[in-house]
Amino acid sequence: MMERFDGSFTQQEPIPEAGIAAALEVMRHGRLHRYNVAPGEVAETALLEEEFAAFTGARYCLAIASGGAAMATALRALQVNPGEPVLSNAFTLAPVPGAIASIGARPVFVEVTEDLTIDLAHLEAQAKATGARVLLLSHMRGHVGDMDALIALCDRLGVRVVEDCAHTMGATWRGVASGRHGAVGCYSTQTYKHINSGEGGFLVTDDPDLAARAVLLSGSYMLYGRHRAAPGPEVFERLRLDVPNISSRMDNLRAAILRPQVAMLAERRARWRELYRAMEAGLAETPGLRLIARPEWEDYVGSSFQFLLPGWEPARVAGFVARAAARGVELKWFGAADPVAFTSRYAHWRYADPVPLPQTDRVLAGLIDMRLPLTFSTDDVEVITRIIRAEVLSAAQSEIGQGEVAEAVAVPLAD
Ligand SMILES: *Cc1c(COP(=O)(O)O)cnc(C)c1O
Repeated sequence: MMERFDGSFTQQEPIPEAGIAAALEVMRHGRLHRYNVAPGEVAETALLEEEFAAFTGARYCLAIASGGAAMATALRALQVNPGEPVLSNAFTLAPVPGAIASIGARPVFVEVTEDLTIDLAHLEAQAKATGARVLLLSHMRGHVGDMDALIALCDRLGVRVVEDCAHTMGATWRGVASGRHGAVGCYSTQTYKHINSGEGGFLVTDDPDLAARAVLLSGSYMLYGRHRAAPGPEVFERLRLDVPNISSRMDNLRAAILRPQVAMLAERRARWRELYRAMEAGLAETPGLRLIARPEWEDYVGSSFQFLLPGWEPARVAGFVARAAARGVELKWFGAADPVAFTSRYAHWRYADPVPLPQTDRVLAGLIDMRLPLTFSTDDVEVITRIIRAEVLSAAQSEIGQGEVAEAVAVPLAD
């Protein structure tokens, strides 16, 4: 009998009891809106912002409705105009170009390397060709390139950097919290990220002007004085009549759920790293499969796992993914012709009128991606890696006939 894996790739851990208790408290008193406070009370959302600012070392923090809202707000705070080009790495998730499009700006994609990080030479070329002022840099799946080189390049080009840290919340790079290299760091607290409020996000910055604009944009009305991780009133007084209200605040209920989880990020990172290392160990030296190098400077979280099947023809990859799925191992393939579930790639974002990027196409054609939820144990990971290894070896050896592939890809992929 072939070994099967029965675990769920989408099952997260429960909300900690302290978060459940705090959420019940908010529901009992009924003051869910962040500016609805009793005399002397500080809103859960304001406390959460203060705690997340301290966690990242940022001066200012805004809690917001989603990671996508954080990125769109950051771009608006930077006063990106409609029609303006905004650079972004081509390997990312749909909410990133979506945030650019949401303000009427134009995504300009930059090639990705085999380490899954942005190609700096192409970044420079694209910045010069388009005159873009802003880079929305996605640390996609937690892979962070050489941030010193990137920031030096962007400074030289006059490009401001917004970091998408959906997969690097809790990670550091040469000891600095992810999201603290550019002008603004954006995070998501959506269920599949590192802390879970269903939907939600953060924006952090040290720039008082950007912070005040972001607070006003999120819909503070004239109640910005109730923020704690925000600049003083003098900054708001200068801007308050010039910045539109685009309601995207976080509420006290979600903040109550999140506060205890911020304190758990370091412990979660340690557990994720253990699972990630078990994946690496289980797949090491599998012929036909290449692991992604993780440089020393990157203290990553490891909430998902990627590997490359370099040079595999599409039918062979599709057959491999389908056979792994049939054995209970859910893999996402970034090279699929049509987007599946959460996985789409730049060429699918037709509204952005993407120009083909041959290097990125080559990398994504062989890129396999897997969630690594904390509900997995290292024993689970050992089963998963045995199955992947066996299926890679058999796919590499077999001559795949068309009939077999058609049959294999017909296996439905669970979301
Ligand atoms: C999830 C995600 C986001 C933000 O997602 P929201 O669902 O808007 O919170 C941004 N970038 C990447 C790479 C993501 O995976």
